[in-house]
Amino acid sequence: MSKYVCCSCGNVFDEDEIESWIEYHGLEYSGEHWCGSPCCQENYVDAYECDCCGEIINTDRYVEIDDKKYCWDCVTIKRLEDI
Ligand SMILES: [Zn+2]
Ligand SMILES: [Zn+2]
Repeated sequence: MSKYVCCSCGNVFDEDEIESWIEYHGLEYSGEHWCGSPCCQENYVDAYECDCCGEIINTDRYVEIDDKKYCWDCVTIKRLEDI
């Protein structure tokens, strides 16, 4: 199952936890379908697992190297090791 990250607070949640609701703008309007994170009802992005430590990357700060994704911590460590 895909995991997602709340853009507002960084909370990680499963696909089936996504909140959806209908927003009504006035009485005649049939309503607009919205979906968002279960915590903040905000936008969310795909969560990736770090290919190095396996941690969920709960931020948009990650680095892609050779089709692998690394969290910021691992990239920092990797850089230190490589030098
Ligand atoms: Zn949130
Ligand atoms: Zn990592």
